[in-house]
Amino acid sequence: MMALTKKMIEIRSILQTVGQSNALNLPSIVVIGSQSSGKSSVLEAIVGHEFLPKGSNMVTRRPIELTLVNTPDARAEYGEFPALGLGKITDFSHIQRTLTELNLAVPDSQCVSDDPIQLTISSPHVPDLSLIDLPGYIQVVGHDQPVELKQKIADLCDKYIQPPNVILAISAADVDLANSTALRASRRVDPRGERTIGVVTKMDLVDSTRGASILTDRKYPLRLGYVGVVSRVPPVTTGLFKKGSGNISSAISRNENAFFSAHPLEFSPEAGLSVGTTTLRKKLMQVLEQTMAASLATTRDAIHQELEEATYEFKVQYNDRPLSAESYLAESLDGFKHSFKEFTDTFGRPQVREMLKEELDQRVLDLLAAKYWNKPITNLSPALVEPESLADLPRADSGSLYWHRKLDASTSSLTKLGIGRVATTVVANAIQANVDHLIGRSTFATHPFARQAITEAASGILNERFYSTSDQVENCIKPYKFEIDVEDGEWARGREHAAGVLKNELHAVEDAVRNVEKVVGGKRKLRDVMGFVERARKGEVMVGDDGATGAGGFSSELLTKGKEALFLSDRATLLRLRLSAIKSPQCANKNNKYFCPEIFLDVVSTKLVSTAVLFLNVELLSEFVYQFPRELDVRLGRGLSREEVERFAREDSRIKAHLDVIRRKELLELVLEKMEGVRDLESTKRERERAR
Ligand code: GDP
Repeated sequence: MMALTKKMIEIRSILQTVGQSNALNLPSIVVIGSQSSGKSSVLEAIVGHEFLPKGSNMVTRRPIELTLVNTPDARAEYGEFPALGLGKITDFSHIQRTLTELNLAVPDSQCVSDDPIQLTISSPHVPDLSLIDLPGYIQVVGHDQPVELKQKIADLCDKYIQPPNVILAISAADVDLANSTALRASRRVDPRGERTIGVVTKMDLVDSTRGASILTDRKYPLRLGYVGVVSRVPPVTTGLFKKGSGNISSAISRNENAFFSAHPLEFSPEAGLSVGTTTLRKKLMQVLEQTMAASLATTRDAIHQELEEATYEFKVQYNDRPLSAESYLAESLDGFKHSFKEFTDTFGRPQVREMLKEELDQRVLDLLAAKYWNKPITNLSPALVEPESLADLPRADSGSLYWHRKLDASTSSLTKLGIGRVATTVVANAIQANVDHLIGRSTFATHPFARQAITEAASGILNERFYSTSDQVENCIKPYKFEIDVEDGEWARGREHAAGVLKNELHAVEDAVRNVEKVVGGKRKLRDVMGFVERARKGEVMVGDDGATGAGGFSSELLTKGKEALFLSDRATLLRLRLSAIKSPQCANKNNKYFCPEIFLDVVSTKLVSTAVLFLNVELLSEFVYQFPRELDVRLGRGLSREEVERFAREDSRIKAHLDVIRRKELLELVLEKMEGVRDLESTKRERERAR
């Protein structure tokens, strides 16, 4: 019957999702009244359920935009808070609690908030209506309430009672109408009483003659008239029904009918007065429908205007470039996979080999330091920098068991290092680091959700392959744990490489010394400290046990730095010594391996690396290259729901703005289309009326 209102309510809810501007406000019925005037009771009688916050204290602190949706073919009655996403709530006491919480969330300092709560109630028993419940006017500010509360409520109500809204002014019959705050407020904005409906509650509390005379008030005549109601829930019902269950409208109207029919002289239909909640509902529907119809043209213009603005923004800012969350994700994913492909082209066996060799070079250096270079270092004295062990090394007796054992032990430390695990870790870490780097350069950089999904995709595959790969590698290098044959060519290459490694190490040590120099405050200062530390070591000077101030006039930090520098310069001297040994003719011959452990260990590590690389490539790298893009498809493609895709795209503020404009435009177009439907509806109706 009230098809227009239904359509308009539908349009309104679409507009709400667009984040409508004020220009798009469709007319509503605004409910005002003093506290305890019976405002809540009237609204609940219309809805048929108790759902509004109750309590002696003022509990309504925010406007409630109440949309009633008639669902003739459904049995269920439920409420929804579209902004909260709580789903359909069938328990009305739950709705009541939610409303109370939302109201109480407004801080006391703010008194009231003009941010409306949106609530939609769907039921076969409600009419299609759009109502706005406002905080009740208060007469006297309570002792625990802020003084400005009264004014703030009045201001909030004033905001809402502007045209094109219809005002439902609630007054209680037992209070003189001249004192009704609601009527006084509406009279100010609607002096000729054209869009105000007067509701007089508590008709049962005054005698019927007086009640009847109130409804024909002449002081503030209303075109839409006054309606008298008895909308209190009869006490029996409250006892009978559990709170929040069951529809109360029939109980209310039975109670109400009983009262009005007990006074036929004043309230029978023949008497011509409007009474009863049912009458009120009908009136509300009619009035809203008419008001909606009247504002149709203005609303349509406003929507047109909004649409034009959205279209313009889309053109100017986004060059009419279409975009959807899905297409954005698909493009981002393609881009990422492409960059991964590029990465794999530059990350193959040679790169893995190089990385591994570097890692093992480091391990070999550590081994050398521990097994061969340790002696002079523990002594920490430059005087001993050419110690017997090192200086003797190149001249050592080739038959000496001591040097044989030393090299065997070192070689075995290297081959039993757990190459499988070390190598797999190095490669897996490198892959993961590169994936992270690719993410950082991709569109996904601004998307925490996708970042995580990609990182997890990579680590998932790597973790899954880790143990089998590392076991495979370990198995394959096993023979080297027993015997290592070296060819001349290998020796020559090892000699060259080992020299390079030592040279690099030497540079690093020299850099470190310069660094200490800088920290300490110059070459000279450092030389002084080092000199002191050295003399102390030889026992020439005494170092006090005053740890805090140090000794020799040097602070303890300075002394630590001095020791560090001394260690480094010992190490540098030693490296130079070994470099010249490696370059000596003696080390050119692989048979002298006991005197040139640096070269021999380099050859061994190269062999280990070559074998490891073969298996790492098959077991880890190729597998990863194959699986990773597929895993990405699962985690960021097919595996995502529409909502997740949407949420993903909106993580980026630019994309969000772009999507918003498109959505706004589409929704406004949809709304306009619906408006055309409404217009057709209106004109057929008018034609039919004219024909009658
Ligand atoms: P609000 O503060 O304006 O929302 O008023 P309420 O709807 O909470 O009503 C205030 C009090 O008046 C409650 O105790 C209601 O039970 C009572 N009341 C409401 N309507 C009627 C009515 O029509 N008749 C009678 N006797 N009491 C009513």
